Amino acid sequence: MSPRTRSAPPGPPVDPVKARLLRLHVALLERFGPQRWWPGRTPYEVAAGAILTQHTAWTNAARALAALRARRRLSARGVAALGVAALARLIRPAGTYRVKARRLRAFTRWLLRWSGGRWAPLRRAPLGPLRRELLAVPGLGPETVDAILLYAAGRPVFVADAYARRVLARHRVLPPRATYEAARAVLEAHLPSDPALFNEFHALLVAVGKAHCRTVPRCAGCPLAFDLGGRPPART
Ligand code: SF4
Repeated sequence: MSPRTRSAPPGPPVDPVKARLLRLHVALLERFGPQRWWPGRTPYEVAAGAILTQHTAWTNAARALAALRARRRLSARGVAALGVAALARLIRPAGTYRVKARRLRAFTRWLLRWSGGRWAPLRRAPLGPLRRELLAVPGLGPETVDAILLYAAGRPVFVADAYARRVLARHRVLPPRATYEAARAVLEAHLPSDPALFNEFHALLVAVGKAHCRTVPRCAGCPLAFDLGGRPPART
């Protein structure tokens, strides 16, 4: 080979999107530290929390979980033994409690039917069919299902919620107004398939979304400002 001939460096091809996402993750981790999501003593508690926090602040969901725990009902069998009305009364602090009682019961019945309430089968089952089954449970949308899969079952599914989409669209990693599924596909295609990374990165995107990347972005002092390269954020 002539000394002037250029050859590609050894190893897999460089993925610039992956490199950029990992830089964003590191910058967020340095600023905000580990987020230690999702609070919950058991996988069932985590899943119940994912349902109860739909359309409400986590503090309200946490109060509903505490009420279930105080009555020793914070388990699949404990919830399944309650009628919808009794469950709704207990989870009232979470808001829209009648709807959420039906959703929590539907998920709980699915879990008991599918695995007898055990979580080990959810950690092993083929991911695509399992996700489709969960999406068929009434009241569980993609964001709730993916939170259950990632945070309760430890599966490599990125929760591409509104915070994540807004930050990454403003940085032009995602197109403006990317759908949930489109955003999830981009993130899962470019990031290493690592539940611990997905867990922490999602939580950190929420942290920066609350602290800086609000409806009107506050880029001054934001740990991700370096990535804009002097350009304004993209319109979202
Ligand atoms: S506030 Fe600005 S720098 Fe921070 S994440 Fe949003 S767009 Fe990026």
